[in-house]
Amino acid sequence: MKDDTWLVHGGRDPRRQQGMVNPPVYHASTVLFDTVAELEAAAADPLAGVYYGRYGTPVHFALEEAMARLEGGHGAVTTCSGLAAISVALMSVAAAGAHLLIADNVYGPTRKLSEGLLKRLGVTATYFDPCADADEVAALMRPETAAVFLEAPGSLTFEIPDVPAIAAAAHERGVPVMLDNTWATPLYFPAFERGVDISIHAATKYVVGHADAMLGLVTANETHYRRVRKTAIQLGYCAGPDDVYLGLRGLRTLRLRLERHAANAAALCDWLAARPEVERILYPPRPDDPHHALWKRDFLGASGLFGVVLHPCDKRSLAAMLDGLSLFGMGFSWGGYESLILPTDPAIHRTATRWSASGPTLRIHAGLEDVDDLIADLEAGFERLGG
Ligand SMILES: *Cc1c(COP(=O)(O)O)cnc(C)c1O
Repeated sequence: MKDDTWLVHGGRDPRRQQGMVNPPVYHASTVLFDTVAELEAAAADPLAGVYYGRYGTPVHFALEEAMARLEGGHGAVTTCSGLAAISVALMSVAAAGAHLLIADNVYGPTRKLSEGLLKRLGVTATYFDPCADADEVAALMRPETAAVFLEAPGSLTFEIPDVPAIAAAAHERGVPVMLDNTWATPLYFPAFERGVDISIHAATKYVVGHADAMLGLVTANETHYRRVRKTAIQLGYCAGPDDVYLGLRGLRTLRLRLERHAANAAALCDWLAARPEVERILYPPRPDDPHHALWKRDFLGASGLFGVVLHPCDKRSLAAMLDGLSLFGMGFSWGGYESLILPTDPAIHRTATRWSASGPTLRIHAGLEDVDDLIADLEAGFERLGG
């Protein structure tokens, strides 16, 4: 079955759900057992079926089944947010004295987790240039290195690490590779084919796709799956069934939405690149982007999130531009149907590399609107910036 067919049919079986197209949502804590024998059998292997609400319900298993197959992993685990998915992945390998290698362009809260809770528990981390070649990353590996953590592209600065080469170097030393694959979704970066062992998604973004739920997914290969699942259970992470349902529903239209997000992003980038206020665009699908070659080699498509570096301007003018936008919302997250814009400060999130931009950096999420209206909104914004 091809991906697009699986997006429609994966994780549901109308015959098992009284002919209804979509799986039911069970709200559950207690799961009842008829006999002591059944209770004991369930306790002997709580991962085998329904056991207790925290361990998942049929709608959790449906999304996990759909996701694992889509991404090409052995199994998937739902979590209550994207950050919870990151923490489950990292905690699944963490141990006192362990060492992590983390790309310098990772999502800010990933670094905060590593420098906060994980450090307190005795896990150290070294950050590296996401553009480093595999030999440079390999030179940073130690006997106690427990994982390499990548994000491709980084969601603020859009560098793409050479995932297959870094994965090959890590595997030579027995080190697993984790990837925050949120930007590309399972459709546009086949993580496991590229050597990743654990793939992480803030499903809050494109999988849910409508800015109305927090959800995370971790997909793992056979070696890591059980450990990831057990870590999520030990931490007590469980996503609410209604949110899981929204994730499953979002999957059905993921391809169609991404096509429009990417087309609108490309059109906005073309228009922005010709503006005198713009210094450069950060969007690897563009042929003139420094990461285009890796994007073309390793990715199967593009999503709608990109960066824009402006020429220097004062804070008040920038605020005038952003405050007056009518279609672009300002706020965190992305991946919903609507356009967003956010001033960002990538420099504060780095230690191994320096982020140099002469002017402010913006992050734009291209929504599903008519792109002419989005351009008109930005054009009026630039007029306020200039005035
Ligand atoms: C938003 C985001 C996360 C965290 O997801 P939440 O659901 O907000 O916790 C993780 N990684 C990336 C790249 C993100 O953009």
